[in-house]
Amino acid sequence: LEDKIISLEGRVPKTYPDVSFLNYLKRKRILITGGAGFVGSHLVDRLMLEGHEVIVVDNFFTGRKRNVEHWIGHENFELIHHDIVNPLFIEVDEIYHLASPASPPHYMHNPVKTIKTNTLGTINILGLARRLNAKILIASTSEVYGDPDIHPQPETYWGHVNPIGPRACYDEGKRVSETLTYAYAKQENMEVRVARIFNTYGPRMHMNDGRVVSNFILQALQNDVITVYGSGEQTRSFQYVSDLVEGLVALMNSNYSQPVNLGNPIEHTINEFASIIKNLVGGHSKVVHVREVEDDPQRRRPNIDRAKKYLDWEPKVDLNTGLHKTVEYFRQELKRFKYSHRN
Ligand code: NAD
Ligand code: UDP
Repeated sequence: LEDKIISLEGRVPKTYPDVSFLNYLKRKRILITGGAGFVGSHLVDRLMLEGHEVIVVDNFFTGRKRNVEHWIGHENFELIHHDIVNPLFIEVDEIYHLASPASPPHYMHNPVKTIKTNTLGTINILGLARRLNAKILIASTSEVYGDPDIHPQPETYWGHVNPIGPRACYDEGKRVSETLTYAYAKQENMEVRVARIFNTYGPRMHMNDGRVVSNFILQALQNDVITVYGSGEQTRSFQYVSDLVEGLVALMNSNYSQPVNLGNPIEHTINEFASIIKNLVGGHSKVVHVREVEDDPQRRRPNIDRAKKYLDWEPKVDLNTGLHKTVEYFRQELKRFKYSHRN
């Protein structure tokens, strides 16, 4: 390394003052598909601050330029408006493949497009990785376990998915995405990583996302009714976005190529979650029960033994801390929304 430092001495661009020389040597060109979305934009921040060159490819279906606008104009950052259903030709060392709608209302909005994104889109990105010999991480989901009949869910569980239900476009899309990843890995001798992501929340979630965290916080902030779907006895385990980002980077940098659950193992019923949000936000919202949604998974909690063992990773941010930051974000979003609609 020292030889390399000496031979490069004097050739580090002067326009690169923030990052140490050693970091400069470790710098990679990293593609993030879906990098203008909620999770992707936090990953962009993490990798930009490490001094890497980051290229975001996004069709802005659910993502927004605003999520990454603070990097626009930085010499290490590039934002490309592109739909991954079409092939892409760029040169990178590593790929985080996150492009796909993620919230149920978004992925059900155009089920055929959701399937195309996760099948044709994933083939395009895997093909790109193969051509470049680049390491690739696929953002999969706890939804591959469907409505699980094993609890908590370990990676060895094959799942319980309705292949023709309203969630199938996403669940089966992601399952095919995983199948494609391992088929390419075996046939083309590629280095792959698969993250099975469990429910994640935090700033930059979309206001109209329709997920439980954004719905309940916005309802509580506006003194609207808090809408619990069905009995509210179904459970979820919520992870803060910075924990997920740490897990994704640790997985990419590990030597582990089998799927890894990334999620917070602390589980709550949706009824409990409604009271937590109501108490945190204050106000006088009432909790009401409305019709249950079809094929809603009844219990979900990750077994994270693999992540602990192979990545030395576990979530650090407790629910109260994470929700405080998220509530604050939505408070500002509401102000911005009201202001922009007044003018
Ligand atoms: P998001 O909707 O905020 O981000 C997805 C991004 O992908 C958006 O910027 C969107 O515009 C982009 N995109 C969608 N289709 C595209 C296409 N065809 N071409 C190019 N870009 C496209 O969602 P998120 O919560 O940030 O999720 C990111 C990834 O993590 C997704 O793959 C999702 O399935 C996975 N995941 C997220 C969660 C979670 O709780 N947030 C849970 C499990 C899995
Ligand atoms: N949910 C709810 N009220 C809402 C939104 C969601 O009760 O306004 C429930 C939903 O039925 C599910 C859980 O909250 O049981 C999590 O839903 P979300 O859409 O956030 O994510 P999912 O884990 O189902 O993909």
